[in-house]
Amino acid sequence: MNTFYSLAHLAHAPAKEFLDGALVDVFEKPSRAELVLQAVRAANLGKVLPPADFGLDPIRAIHTADYLDFLQNAFALWIADGRDSNGVYPDTFWKAPFQHRSAKIGALAGIYVMDMSAPIVGGTWTAAYQSAQVALSAAQDVQQQGKAAFGLCRPPGHHAHANIAGGYCYLNNVAIAAQWLLSQAPTQRVAILDIDIHHGNGTQHIFYTRKDVLFTSLHGHPDWQYPYFLGSANEQGESEGLGFNFNYPLPKGADNALFLRTLDEACGRIARYQPHYLLVSLGADTYEKDPLGGFALTAEAYEAIGWRIAQLELPTVFIMEGGYAIAQLGSNVVNVLLGFEGR
Ligand SMILES: [Zn+2]
Repeated sequence: MNTFYSLAHLAHAPAKEFLDGALVDVFEKPSRAELVLQAVRAANLGKVLPPADFGLDPIRAIHTADYLDFLQNAFALWIADGRDSNGVYPDTFWKAPFQHRSAKIGALAGIYVMDMSAPIVGGTWTAAYQSAQVALSAAQDVQQQGKAAFGLCRPPGHHAHANIAGGYCYLNNVAIAAQWLLSQAPTQRVAILDIDIHHGNGTQHIFYTRKDVLFTSLHGHPDWQYPYFLGSANEQGESEGLGFNFNYPLPKGADNALFLRTLDEACGRIARYQPHYLLVSLGADTYEKDPLGGFALTAEAYEAIGWRIAQLELPTVFIMEGGYAIAQLGSNVVNVLLGFEGR
């Protein structure tokens, strides 16, 4: 299968995030994508191609205009405000109703950013824009050849809502690609399978009231795993979308057997939905040694995951999400793709 990749991700390299009460080096760093790319090449997965430029319209179909304006201008406003070039972080996380909307950048960041793990640096907008183009290009490749493609997106996207950044995510790449596929007649239904250890809160919220996108997610239970406020099994969609959202929250320490058994259940849901396309939010932070994980999946699980997804026999777009165990990240990700291809 073809892999889509853009060098633009290198410009998004914030230094620090605030995690577990401490300022630490950012886990979501450029070497992640570079190591996955090396593994793709070493495995002869297929061609590595630059993304086409679909412009802003497919991004505007998912994200609000005011949020996109914020993302594009935040860093310049931050510097103009005399702040440090390490990146934009919220000054507050305001909870009460607004009486005043300040244009000060630290206040705006409090509106549009949900945590301290999505700093915006000078290269963030370009990297996020190109990451969305990578996802769109992978979707178009699958639309044209009917099989599978890999969007090696960085930064990742599944935590981003229509108007909120967080958890290393700025633009929701998988949602942008899904919406674009739906805009291509005669596609009526797409399914998204999110196998990152963190719930795809942004993707769920974006499609929560719609029946033309089935969202299924396997993840750490929100009692113990980020993002904590969405991801329980009783969230099944609303209004027209009721019955088109399925969460499979799993306990800490979930192993290969439990994960694969649950994946079979999710795949059963997807098969019954009979979508025209499948998009996979591919996170490898389910791995036992992941520093942000908590599951006990071993390296052997990844090929089996890919093989199971392939049994759906759907045109499939893989979109890179998380995975922070750097030494094993490339092989775990590529093993899903090789398992899908049956090699
Ligand atoms: Zn994750």
